[in-house]
Amino acid sequence: MAISANSKEIRKCLWCDEYILEGRSDKIFCNLKCKSAFNNKKNKEKNLVFIQTDKYLHRNWEILDKLYRLSEGEKYIDRLLLTTKALRPIYFTGMEREPTTGVIKYIVYNYSYEVDTKLGVKIYKV
Ligand SMILES: [Zn+2]
Repeated sequence: MAISANSKEIRKCLWCDEYILEGRSDKIFCNLKCKSAFNNKKNKEKNLVFIQTDKYLHRNWEILDKLYRLSEGEKYIDRLLLTTKALRPIYFTGMEREPTTGVIKYIVYNYSYEVDTKLGVKIYKV
């Protein structure tokens, strides 16, 4: 088969960038090895996102666990403690709003916390 610049037959493998000279017109890899390599890389990148997110969630859980014990489950603690312990507030597993007060609790697995600008942080164990 002759390959020309305006030919519809010109296709390149998504993995190795070699021309695909045979097979179905919708073929995007030159062989199974290239297809596997491409998908392995894609999955590895996806898994890194999950691993990093899980790491931050687990770290937040450890911080809340430690601070909950410090607060004896009762007292408000200085909200700067969350910052100094490096809690990442954008990582949580859920949130709920108290219907009457409108206070938002951020949930990290079996802990939740609310931030009061005057009183500080109150941590709950679910
Ligand atoms: Zn290839």
